[in-house]
Amino acid sequence: MNKTKIVCTLNSHQDAELFDQLIEAGMDVARLNFSHMSHKDGIKIANILKEVRKRRTNRALAIMLDTKGPEVRIFGHQHNIDITKDDEIKIRSYLEADIYDQILEADNEFITNLPAIEEKVEIGQKILLMDGLLEGSVIAKDDGCIRVKIRNSGEIRPKGHLTIPNINYDLPFISDKDKADIELAIRNEFEYIALSFVSKKKDIDDVRKIIAKTDSNSEIKLIAKIENKQAVDNLQDIINASDGVMVARGDLGVELDIEAVPIIQKRIIKQCYLSGKPVITATQMLESMIKNPVPTRAETSDVANACYDLTSAVMLSGETAIGHYPKLVVETMNRIIGKVEASFQYDDFFAGLVKERLDRTSIIAYNAISTAYQCNAKALMVFTLSGYSARMISKLRPGIPIYVFTPIESVYNQLALNWGINPYLIEHVGTDFERMVARAMKLARSEKLLEQGDAVIIVAGLPMGKHGTTNIIRLENVEKASVEGKVLHEGTVAAPIIHINSIEDLKNREINNKIILLKNFDNSFLEYLKSVAGIVTENEENIDILQYLADRYDIPILINAKLASSKIPDGTSAELDSENKCIRDI
Ligand code: PEP
Repeated sequence: MNKTKIVCTLNSHQDAELFDQLIEAGMDVARLNFSHMSHKDGIKIANILKEVRKRRTNRALAIMLDTKGPEVRIFGHQHNIDITKDDEIKIRSYLEADIYDQILEADNEFITNLPAIEEKVEIGQKILLMDGLLEGSVIAKDDGCIRVKIRNSGEIRPKGHLTIPNINYDLPFISDKDKADIELAIRNEFEYIALSFVSKKKDIDDVRKIIAKTDSNSEIKLIAKIENKQAVDNLQDIINASDGVMVARGDLGVELDIEAVPIIQKRIIKQCYLSGKPVITATQMLESMIKNPVPTRAETSDVANACYDLTSAVMLSGETAIGHYPKLVVETMNRIIGKVEASFQYDDFFAGLVKERLDRTSIIAYNAISTAYQCNAKALMVFTLSGYSARMISKLRPGIPIYVFTPIESVYNQLALNWGINPYLIEHVGTDFERMVARAMKLARSEKLLEQGDAVIIVAGLPMGKHGTTNIIRLENVEKASVEGKVLHEGTVAAPIIHINSIEDLKNREINNKIILLKNFDNSFLEYLKSVAGIVTENEENIDILQYLADRYDIPILINAKLASSKIPDGTSAELDSENKCIRDI
């Protein structure tokens, strides 16, 4: 289980089988890009993803809707227009609703949805078209119009992107389409919305108002995509207001000078983890794998460097949405991440952290990790309702796994995005903390997350069930469990223990030569139990029948071994020891 998570962009022609393979390969977050997706298709894929993740226990998956956001484009033609180096084109602002249908006579004239374009640029201003494939500069500003000389040859496609680097476009942040898309994500209980072209805190606040109006109980989280200069200028405010950030390098690379992007990427990652917010590094990470089965050396280093910088997640776009090798690309990314993480000195990073200005939960998180390192603990186990204490531990990037237990399904799936967190969904047990710990320990044993004798650090808030009360650090050892009972038939035997809850379990599971643990014994079980190695029951019912079975087939039997099923996980190696009147794991 890697610490750095993988976000995969999907498309509406893909199916459950592929999604299942992508999860198996390492997908943690499924991104649906609503710039290119209808509501019908979005809901269809989300439902398939929900079905697929329901079938997989203990494997969280977050679903993220990515909005179109405000975009500046040029219109006026329905066909591709060839441009030759040194050609001049004219672009005029046009704010009418029929802009999409306008057809202009001259091939060198265009209209744009950007208001007052001539007031936004100076002579000499760089202009990029078609996501930077064509570059030019402003040579004149006439009445409501700019003239641009293009420096290279290429083609302008209908509705091509217009980028004017380093300016504030001042477009309304939420269009009718974005509002409808945001409402769809809320109503369909997606875990995240990635907001394109956020440029200030108010943009996030405005979306929160839509959420409150649509469903005041919604727990949906907002990821701010940083993709223009204004967002970079307002970075810390945006980080504080959002639930996470995406370094959207595609647009950043045209909105700013491309050589500024790596430096800004590093800054965003660091500011995010210091603020305890997840950060996704996105775009062109393994781009050549859209067509090829192996990445370039530079792409491999790009993924690795983002992991070294401690990004929470790395993202795949076209690689998984339209590429030839979606499964292979996720496997490749997972392998690169695994190599980096195996060589990273997390304890050195932790030792170098500045401990000032930590809030209460972060102080507990810091000391939990510190205790874990001192005790050589194998893992941190966190119990959380909102996910906050788990995020505060993830923020400090510990080198040991963070197993997080929550009874809230939305929190469980949201935590799939957070660095280092392995979320587990457990049953709500009210305020009984000891029961919760016992359940988590059992799960950790049966999932083989921990072994007998391992030390673990438990972090939780008491009283259970109250938000924001993280106040417990407890050192536990995974004990060898031993449960006493009454001997019905003598004998000592060692074998895997199988929990049987119904006649179906007896029919379907491999039980010969195993120790069978029965919560309740039913007479109809009798015919299936002749070749088992031993029997343990949690109560004293139907003793006569069990006695008959034991005497006839010489099977060691221990009865009344109370709570044996919660202490000795299904499948573990166990010993039924009649001399010491107990069943224990070995
Ligand atoms: C980006 O610009 O890098 C990005 C992730 O956004 P989109 O794919 O929506 O353009």
